[in-house]
Amino acid sequence: MTHIAMPAVDEAVIGRRDEIVAGLVAILGAEHVIATEDERRAYETDALTAYRAVPLAVVLPGSTEEVSKVLAFLNGTGAKVIARGAGTSLSGGALPSEDAVVLGLARLNRIVDIDYANRVARVQTGVTNVNITNAVAGQGFFYAPDPSSQLACTIGGNIAMNSGGAHCLKYGVT
Ligand SMILES: Cc1cc2nc3c(=O)[nH]c(=O)nc-3n(C[C@H](O)[C@H](O)[C@H](O)COP(=O)(O)OP(=O)(O)OC[C@H]3O[C@@H](n4cnc5c(N)ncnc54)[C@H](O)[C@@H]3O)c2cc1C
Repeated sequence: MTHIAMPAVDEAVIGRRDEIVAGLVAILGAEHVIATEDERRAYETDALTAYRAVPLAVVLPGSTEEVSKVLAFLNGTGAKVIARGAGTSLSGGALPSEDAVVLGLARLNRIVDIDYANRVARVQTGVTNVNITNAVAGQGFFYAPDPSSQLACTIGGNIAMNSGGAHCLKYGVT
């Protein structure tokens, strides 16, 4: 197997970890900032497990406003930011680096509204693929792009990866 080179890490950012974590806790509260090494390790890879790096921290914002505040803060720190839905990417898309903060989007899992007449659903990024189908199945609808990971994978990850599944033979990918 040919290995890809991981990007160089910024040691100065790693050295400011405590200060960066404190800033994130001030925005989100301690329960939505993952800072211990054991807990951060759960985010060290996606489904491409040949590559791993324990991130600087993991944040779990619960609203668009919180995402915005976190990004504005991190922009001034030099830390990289890696968005993560369910972490089922098979190509390292959600793989962090040691100087990166993982932006875990699983709490943004609300279906905002469904317009059956126009076949449009407005959903937050962390809604799982299968839960979109579950939400509309009662009306005889389904969400066509159906990766085999649909129980876990999120619509944000689906869009970023242009994911597909068996239904895509007929309906096309995301
Ligand atoms: C068992 C298994 C079966 C699979 N079957 C299929 C299949 O049949 N078809 C298929 O196409 N794929 C399949 N996959 C791959 C994977 O499930 C898809 O790529 C899926 O779309 C990833 O979604 P996720 O929520 O896990 O995204 P993640 O892995 O968390 O992230 C994927 C990428 O999306 C980015 N991202 C996520 N959310 C956002 C956001 N809100 N804004 C910006 N970027 C964002 C991440 O940074 C990352 O680059 C499979 C994977 C597994 C493990």
